[in-house]
Amino acid sequence: MAGRPGTGGTTRRGRTFTRLTRSRPVLMYHGVGRVGVDPFALFVPPDRFAEQMRTLRRVGLRGVSLGELGDAAARGDADGLVGLTFDDGYRDVRTWAAPVLEQCGFTATVFVVSGLLDGENVWDPPPRRQLVDAADLRDLAARGWEIGSHSVTHARLTEVDPGRLQHEVAASRAALSELMGVEARSFCYPYGAVDGAAVDAVRAAGYTYACAVTRVAGLPTILATPRIGVTGRDRGLRLAAKLVLRGR
Ligand SMILES: [Zn+2]
Repeated sequence: MAGRPGTGGTTRRGRTFTRLTRSRPVLMYHGVGRVGVDPFALFVPPDRFAEQMRTLRRVGLRGVSLGELGDAAARGDADGLVGLTFDDGYRDVRTWAAPVLEQCGFTATVFVVSGLLDGENVWDPPPRRQLVDAADLRDLAARGWEIGSHSVTHARLTEVDPGRLQHEVAASRAALSELMGVEARSFCYPYGAVDGAAVDAVRAAGYTYACAVTRVAGLPTILATPRIGVTGRDRGLRLAAKLVLRGR
């Protein structure tokens, strides 16, 4: 669809939606897939995920990466956009989410653990899930996805010493920037654990945008953006209500 940058694919209804509700929602996903055991409720079944994306489209919203949303907001042009983010970099996201987003004309940000590419989510108790490798990331980037950092080891950044904090934030950015051939601009705090020191480290490492989970008083929104967690139970009106009530 033609339009100015940042508005392509949004509709008048979507722009009105975010303007009237004064929301700039950013959705938080982890995995998309069919899994038997999911102790932390991190996986949304593929058909439910597709339904959620269709709901966003019906409301007139266009899903974009955190970087695209932030750039559009800086231009005062973010009406009708919703940020889509996927933490941890599960391979299922490439398998199940990427084709759906492509069909909708949406993009997203995947936040990967740079030291665990082609590995597993060893920071969680089992069951283990396969994580993306470099080829997966190139495929996602080719579909317009942003590749962001989720640290080197999925460390809880509020509990590490200053040297380790700096390493987790800066070394992951350097590794991903080299791998992808473009500067990584977005960061996501593992476990949503963020404080002033973590924000300072993220800023010093050169990131433009960063995601938390909840809003943390006293921290700049652009480097600690709260997000709306989406689960398999969210459909239709319930998802739309979440956008309105929690997207501000
Ligand atoms: Zn994570």
